[in-house]
Parts: sequence; C-alpha cells; structure tokens
Amino acid sequence: MTAQIIDGKALAAAMRAELKDTVTKLKTKGITPGLAVILVGQDPASQSYVTAKEKACAEIGIYSDDNRLPAETSEADLLALVKRFNADPKIHGILVQLPLPKHIDEDKVLLAIDPDKDVDGFHPVNVGRMVVGQKGFLPCTPHGVLQMLLRSGVSLEGAEVVIVGRSNIVGKPLANMLIQKSPTGNATVTVCHTRTKHLAEHVQRADIVIAAAGRPGTVTAEMVKAGAVVIDVGVNRVEDATKKNGYRLVGDVDFEAVKEKASLITPVPGGVGPMTITMLLHNTVQSARQAAGLL
Ligand code: NAP
Repeated sequence: MTAQIIDGKALAAAMRAELKDTVTKLKTKGITPGLAVILVGQDPASQSYVTAKEKACAEIGIYSDDNRLPAETSEADLLALVKRFNADPKIHGILVQLPLPKHIDEDKVLLAIDPDKDVDGFHPVNVGRMVVGQKGFLPCTPHGVLQMLLRSGVSLEGAEVVIVGRSNIVGKPLANMLIQKSPTGNATVTVCHTRTKHLAEHVQRADIVIAAAGRPGTVTAEMVKAGAVVIDVGVNRVEDATKKNGYRLVGDVDFEAVKEKASLITPVPGGVGPMTITMLLHNTVQSARQAAGLL
C-alpha cells in the first residue's frame, strides 16, 4: 500500500479562504480582528516565524500590530506592553514569540496575557478550559493536527492513537483534545516519551501515529501497522551539502519507508506546519467574534 499524502498546504489554504470570508463579513459590521505580535531579540528562526504569521494575517485581512523589541528589553517593559494590549479594544489576540531572552521569565509573561486574548492557547486558564472541555483557545499546533485528521475524513471514534512526545505545546494538549467525550474526540490515547519502555510495541498498536519528538527517524516502517494514519509534527534540520543553505528539513518519521505502509501520511515540510499558523488566524478571528458578542 502506498499512502495518500495529506496536503497541509491545501488544507490550510481552504481554511484560510473560509477565514477570509468571515473577516470580510466582520468588516461589514465594523469589526477588524487585530493581532499584536511581540518579538524580543533577533533570533533568525523566530524572525521568520513572526514574518510568516504577519503575512498570513495580512492575506486574510487581520490587522497585525508588529512589535520587534531589542534583545535587552526588560521584563518590566515587556509586561507593560502586554498590559497595554490587554486593554486595547483593537487587539483581539496577543502573541509573544518564544523563546524569550534568558533574563525574562517566560511563564510570568504568558500569565500576564489576558486569557481571552491568549490566541496561542498557552495560558493555564485556557489549558484548564481545554482539559475540562470548556470553550477557550486551543493551542495551534495540536488543534491543526486535529483539523487535519477531521478534514481528511479520519475517524477518531474509538481509534487507538499513539503520540510520541509529551511537551506542553504539542503532545499533552493533543492527548487531551483527542480523549474529549465529543464527536471530535473519543479516541483511546497513549502518550510516549523518552522513558517509555518498548516504544515500537506501542506504535505498532496504533491506528493513528502522531510523532512530535523532534528527532529524525523516531518512527520507522517496522514500527507502523499497515494502513495506519501517520502525522509527523517534527521539524528537524539535517545537513545536506546539495542545498545552498547546507541543510534540509525532515520530520520525525522515516517518510519514504513509512509511506509504503501507511494509509495516510503528512510530509515535512508542507504538512502540519501550514496548519499551525492557520489555527492562530482562526483563534484571532474567534476572539474578535467573541468580543463583539457574535459567539
Ligand atoms: P520538545 O519540547 O523537545 O518535546 C519532545 C518530546 O518528545 C518530549 O516529550 C520527549 O520526551 C519526546 N521524545 C524525544 N525523543 C524521543 C524518543 N526518541 N522517543 C520517545 N520520545 C521522545 O519538542 P516540541 O516542542 O513538542 O516539538 C516536537 C517537534 O515538533 C519538534 O521537531 C518541533 O520543531 C516540532 N514542532 C513543529 C510545529 C509545527 O508547526 N510544525 C510546532 C511545534 C513543534 P521527554 O519528555 O521524556 O524528554
């Protein structure tokens, strides 16, 4: 069996077109969704993420307020800026790009964001809402994975899902979303990590494998059940002398071999990545609708 490729770019484009329609309609009511983007320092990867997020906002008509601050910005100044955006009615979402420089306490900054503007879904209030199944912002990468599964027609009802990775931004929230008692949940989930014994045995059981370990080759063809759905969240740089920049991006899954065994598989790049930014746009639009009493 050769797997069908889940095209993250195409799914993201379809969702962005839907969001653009919603934004156009909101504008006729005098509402423009606004996202404040805050970047501290000059980390090249963070700069390119922030640029991509702002470009995506512009494409669908979201107003973005760009704040690129020097690396030596104090924690107090950053907290004051967050506070200002919390009170600004033009701003419906606040995104603080991580990682922050060492002298700034990330937890303190994330806690300072109004949970109703926390479009990254990292604030403990939103994490709590997610766990108990209340309405709130879902974190973008796991929500993107969930949307990919649903929009590809994958049934979650009673499915055996194995997630490799237990981080706060991917593995843990994804597990929580998939076990919710709801038509978009109802899966049986196993979460694996570096202390898991017999990783292969867990993965072999899975109808759906989700790799979020940050290590190339974590999921091999021998570990995957024939016909499984394989979602690769990992993004890893590996040296490649044939590339101008000296590297290429790969996921955590041995894509070429696993695609011969799986029924559906996501590529890297072009899989989960485009969905992550799309879910940020989704959360910002939801927040604007919520603030306007339209939800
Ligand atoms: P992270 O915080 O480093 O967490 C990695 C998790 O994987 C940890 O729980 C770790 O276990 C587990 N792990 C690592 N190696 C393992 C192995 N060999 N076997 C079993 N478990 C293993 O990483 P993250 O932030 O969740 O990100 C994971 C990957 O997704 C990275 O490649 C990242 O770049 C990518 N990512 C992509 C997007 C996107 O939009 N496409 C967004 C976010 C992240 P321990 O807890 O025991 O250490």
